[in-house]
Amino acid sequence: MQGIPLIWNITKACPWNCSFCCINAYYLPSFESLETELEKIKRKGVELSLEDKLKVVDNLDLESFDIDISGGEPLLFRENVEVIRRLSKKFGRDNISITTTGRGLALVDKNALKDIIREVGFTYDSPYEPNSLRPKGYNSSNLEQIKQVVQIGGMRTMAQIPLTKLNVDEEIIKDIYRNLTDAGVERLHLMKFFPVGRGAHRLDLSLTNQEYQTAIDIYQKLESFEGPRVYVQNALGDSDKNSSHLNITFRGLLLSDPWAYDPHGEPLEESILGDLRYQKFSGIAKL
Ligand code: SF4
Repeated sequence: MQGIPLIWNITKACPWNCSFCCINAYYLPSFESLETELEKIKRKGVELSLEDKLKVVDNLDLESFDIDISGGEPLLFRENVEVIRRLSKKFGRDNISITTTGRGLALVDKNALKDIIREVGFTYDSPYEPNSLRPKGYNSSNLEQIKQVVQIGGMRTMAQIPLTKLNVDEEIIKDIYRNLTDAGVERLHLMKFFPVGRGAHRLDLSLTNQEYQTAIDIYQKLESFEGPRVYVQNALGDSDKNSSHLNITFRGLLLSDPWAYDPHGEPLEESILGDLRYQKFSGIAKL
């Protein structure tokens, strides 16, 4: 049975500082004392307490969910890996995936990860560095770490590619597809860039429907037996984005739309369905 699809942005903290981040992540460049940083951002209200995160897990009270754990960087803090473990125990490993980055993957025991999640998603949207959208090392470290995940085996791998004016040139697409093929990535997921969150001002990156379709066509022509399968999110139009998913914010709010964030990374009022720290999912769903 297909569970209710949910994306949980379990943390707002991120070691990257992408210019068009849809949740306006809280930049944490230092890794020296992650536990101290975690306590600091909890005091600032940027991260839920572990107790509140576990209340959210408890309040997911229906039998079947399909949950993608995202961020920020969901593997930055050890306690979030423990929350993922609880979710996996409750709903089954096959219903849990993560969307992470190379820096998060470098911090965890990837062998242990395969016991609690079925799929690792990551972004790979440019073969060249630096570029104006991503910090230096972002795409290359994502790819390096995902190669290790592929070697370990036991977890599916999926590259997410937001398509913008900067990465739809045919030669760039060929390089992206070749690099993902060489890395052994199984699937790639094309999505249209939407100017939300910190990216709200980057209207210059948006594609027309024709440009989007042309990029999809190029990827689909490149699709080969050895390379990743190509999946397309919401082929055309801006209206429904990823609307089949509900979203849980880093504060535990349940949203009707994972893209419903303002330029400060705050959820849009009209998208808020309830607060999973205090309300059961079943109760919110009945409202
Ligand atoms: S887009 Fe992702 S990796 Fe970049 S700052 Fe935001 S949460 Fe971090």
